[in-house]
Amino acid sequence: MLRTLLGRSKGGGEQICNVCSEAPAIGVFSSRFGPVSHAACGNCADQGAESLFMICFHIHRTGGPEKAKQRFAKARSFHDGKYIGLKEILTVYPEFEDEFQDY
Ligand SMILES: [Zn+2]
Repeated sequence: MLRTLLGRSKGGGEQICNVCSEAPAIGVFSSRFGPVSHAACGNCADQGAESLFMICFHIHRTGGPEKAKQRFAKARSFHDGKYIGLKEILTVYPEFEDEFQDY
């Protein structure tokens, strides 16, 4: 697993997990699906979960849910207080799709 701990100076405030927004991030992790990175807490890192927004964005860039099924089969994210897999991600995906139309 890629774990690149940021050498953040003290006093700058704690960075919150980009995935669940509920816990302080323990480090910055590379996405499995694109050239982006995100801050994640220990739980999300262990789950291999990525921000729902970013996963939906990658799905959009891939060509939509139909094309994403294979590539994102192991995708994990966090929504409504629990970790979710691709099936649930695709259920929420339409809520994000409108935001991606400009890209
Ligand atoms: Zn988290």
